[in-house]
Amino acid sequence: MESCADQKQEADKLQPMPFGSIKPLGWIKDQMQKDVNGFVGNLDRLVPDLINDPIYGSGRLAKHSKAKDLGNLKEGDAAGDEQYKWWNSETQSNWWDGYVRNVLLINDSIGVQKVNNYVRRILETQDADGYLGIYDTELRYKFQSENGELWAKTTLLRGLLAYYEFTNDQNVWNAIVKAVDNVMLNYPINQSNPFFAGKDFSGGVAHGLTFTDVCDRMYQITKNKKYREYATFLFRNFSENYSSEKDIQLHSIFDATYKLQCHGVHTFEHLRPLIVAAYSSNEVELRKALSIYLNRLKQVTTITGGAIGDEWIAGRSAHSTHTGYEYCSLHELLDSYALLFQKSGEIEMTEMIERIFYNAAQGARNPNYSAIAYLKTDNSFEMLGTKNGEIEPDRKQTRYKYSPVHQDVAVCCSPNAGRITPYFVQNMWFKENDNTLVAALLGPNKLETTIRNTKVEIEEITEYPYQNKFQFKIKAEKPIEFTLKIRKPVWATSIRTNEKYRLENGFVVISKEFKSIDNFEIEFLTEVKILEDQNGEKAFAYGALLYALPIEAIEQKGKKYAENFDDVYYKPVNFAEFYFHTSCTPIFQNGIIGVSMKNKGTNQIEEVKLIPFSKTILRQVSFKQN
Ligand SMILES: [Zn+2]
Repeated sequence: MESCADQKQEADKLQPMPFGSIKPLGWIKDQMQKDVNGFVGNLDRLVPDLINDPIYGSGRLAKHSKAKDLGNLKEGDAAGDEQYKWWNSETQSNWWDGYVRNVLLINDSIGVQKVNNYVRRILETQDADGYLGIYDTELRYKFQSENGELWAKTTLLRGLLAYYEFTNDQNVWNAIVKAVDNVMLNYPINQSNPFFAGKDFSGGVAHGLTFTDVCDRMYQITKNKKYREYATFLFRNFSENYSSEKDIQLHSIFDATYKLQCHGVHTFEHLRPLIVAAYSSNEVELRKALSIYLNRLKQVTTITGGAIGDEWIAGRSAHSTHTGYEYCSLHELLDSYALLFQKSGEIEMTEMIERIFYNAAQGARNPNYSAIAYLKTDNSFEMLGTKNGEIEPDRKQTRYKYSPVHQDVAVCCSPNAGRITPYFVQNMWFKENDNTLVAALLGPNKLETTIRNTKVEIEEITEYPYQNKFQFKIKAEKPIEFTLKIRKPVWATSIRTNEKYRLENGFVVISKEFKSIDNFEIEFLTEVKILEDQNGEKAFAYGALLYALPIEAIEQKGKKYAENFDDVYYKPVNFAEFYFHTSCTPIFQNGIIGVSMKNKGTNQIEEVKLIPFSKTILRQVSFKQN
């Protein structure tokens, strides 16, 4: 492709489904409903000052606006006050984005009403020229330093795009088009410098690079190339300016000695602008940069999919006990890999997405309360605020705990923990062409789409990843011939099905005329796999799930936000670390892996039971060899 000079724009391998075409079923739907009844649906009540700040409307920022008091401790933030001016826009819009998607997907009637009102209110803040944002006329588009211009729009427009795709509301679409046009007019392509922000910290400006999310989605909807060309311009402009978030800049990528070192969330979300630029322009340099960057990301990612985000990467490699990951980072990296799968069709991405979602991300939720960990490590020996008890000399660390809010640090992870599930669901299916559907991420869901103007519904009934059996139920307006591709997970040793199929590039391919009501079953068989991480520690997997040794703990309640919304801490009881030994003979039975391990304290071999990592609080998931 690259040698073909006139083929500047390469088509994406797969087409995304419009938001709302894929709905959750089974345990994923139940969990979303629980979240809507819990931290996702109540954040506006738990931090009303942050969510109700009219920052996009009557409270837009002006020249002498003061930094806002967000109720946090400002411990160990390198950033100064400037970010506290725009921060409520991120909190609000990321929260709304997650909330909008959750309530629409599960059809929560009270939530849907609330969302309709929100969209109406936010559209009322749009100026006649199309401006939707947080700055008054004196400030907007005229910055020489840290600001939240593009970032405030990105977070807002991502949610509005989802709402539009779901409802097809033309007023909302027109407002989005006008808002994006307003950006492209005021920061004209190749003739402006939107990412110039001086030499100080500029995290908000750097977040604004993800305006490419909006551009790419606009391109997907309209197929108008101007949006992707604009995204490429944004990436290039960001790369050429000074930024405190330089991991993604081309000079960093092409420096062979460079190690990822920036704020993790930025590093992982910035993968998307690079992907969009690389696939829009199809420039060899950007393709090469993408492949170098992907390799660097692997080095900072643990075996459960948790990429370092505690909060600066600081040149480290991932470690199951010593590097923490932020909930925000889990979401951002998942979303980035999903975009890359859509563009490239590289099946490895889907494995990484399931790794993150079914392991690290589920494993950073509290199984008993509606609360998440801001920071979490794979091996989690205590959750008392610090990283497994490590003292950090220059700050009081409080992020290693469960909370529905984490207001003492920043209300970023809680909104993003509300986004991750709907974003995962949105990427479960893709279209390869007008009669090929691809089940990329496995799990309980229902797809509604059309194939050559015939309506088709496919329900995927499963307990996956807690079982590896699926029933696919197809319902079509009339009998219809199409191709169904179901990803065969890498860990599957064999396939059991009553359907005729062929294997092709990692997919189970079923091509036939489906009856108007049709169904088949498929099961992926597997066995316990012993994995090794980059530090030589061993871990046990069965199917898509990692298994961990749970550590008994005493629970302590902390700050109470409201009834049933508390911070929760965990202190280990009878804690013993275990070592791997080579003749451990793991056996999987009824959702548990039984295995023999060496107790580090007593030096004795003991039989222990490992449970899914996703259901643990304190745990050991990787084991040193001894
Ligand atoms: Zn966060």
